[in-house]
Amino acid sequence: MFEDEFLHPDTLAVRAGTTRSQFGEHSDAMYLTSSFVVGSAEEASLKFTGQMPGFIYSRFTNPTVTAFEERLAALEGAERAVATASGMSAILSLFMAHLKSGDHVVASASLFGSTIQLLNVYLSKFGVSVTYVSATDITEWADACQPNTKLLFLETPSNPLTEISDIRKIADIAHARGALLVVDNCFCTPILQKPLAMGADLVVHSATKYIDGQGRVLGGAVVGSSALVDPVYLFLRTAGPSLSAFNAWVLLKGLETLPIRMRAHSENALKLATYLQAHPAVEQVYYPGLPSHPQHALAMTQQNAGGGMVSFVVKGGREQAWKIVDAVQLISRTANLGDTRSTITHPASTTHGRITPAAREAAGITEGLIRISVGLEYINDLIADLEQGLA
Ligand SMILES: *Cc1c(COP(=O)(O)O)cnc(C)c1O
Repeated sequence: MFEDEFLHPDTLAVRAGTTRSQFGEHSDAMYLTSSFVVGSAEEASLKFTGQMPGFIYSRFTNPTVTAFEERLAALEGAERAVATASGMSAILSLFMAHLKSGDHVVASASLFGSTIQLLNVYLSKFGVSVTYVSATDITEWADACQPNTKLLFLETPSNPLTEISDIRKIADIAHARGALLVVDNCFCTPILQKPLAMGADLVVHSATKYIDGQGRVLGGAVVGSSALVDPVYLFLRTAGPSLSAFNAWVLLKGLETLPIRMRAHSENALKLATYLQAHPAVEQVYYPGLPSHPQHALAMTQQNAGGGMVSFVVKGGREQAWKIVDAVQLISRTANLGDTRSTITHPASTTHGRITPAAREAAGITEGLIRISVGLEYINDLIADLEQGLA
């Protein structure tokens, strides 16, 4: 009766993936052990050769890690998830499992900086080439595909300008060429957006962000069909960027409150974006939940709320932007996002500080741009903090 597919995400977030030990613990147990004991030589042999299910060694997997993987897979509506030590190790493991020398990748130009570094500096060493295209221009995606294109990769909404990529259309482009579409679903989480249901083949997560949601641990995951996730698991158990049981336990607890947190982040962010849009010192606001966002309609067909990330441009360029960053007293000056605590950054001088001013300008990362990860503080306290900064 209670099959995962019939349960609401709010229920899956607290119940999916639960197994109990002989002690009948109510909350999930944390299995801090590197290896598992077997009863006989024969059992060891059967488990090592995969003829008998069971735990062997925590680089391969661990009961706490498995519980996290099952709960996340249930939320994404996927057959399988494999957990990794960080978001970047999820992306690396996916690339190692699904790409080989001579392959080509088409990627959104608005990707997380380390993903771009990974492709440009490291994957290129092994003969994998990449073409970057506009997150929003469908013809660029189609035109960039080559006979050797194996993988298309995007983030939506993008960081920090909240551009929306059309998942359904880009999935069609990938599939018409026998390529895979991978979506980094970090900003929305499965609570706000389910890329697999819209045609994506694999989802990657930085669980460090909203899934933990309280800024404590690093973690990541690759989610999709068993056929596509199994090769990622085989790489992981060999190479070792595995999630620790401790971090898995923290993330498992994070998932339990993810639905209510994502709704609260989105509500606060919409109120903050609405306030900023009306402020005379603000030139522009980027938030997909605002009707004035150029892709608001598309965003609302893909997401069930706007999410927690708001960016805005202040008049007066870097000087004014830095004044605001320096003036806030409640909001934390730190680059992490997805935390209960609101955070503020000036992308042009931090996350995007190493690219040339011309490239930055072309990417829309202007000197007056400020990014806020809207936390769970009371909205009027956040507005008051920014108000004194803007003043
Ligand atoms: C943070 C982040 C990553 C990398 O995750 P880590 O857990 O820091 O390794 C990847 N993609 C996006 C969109 C991110 O925000």
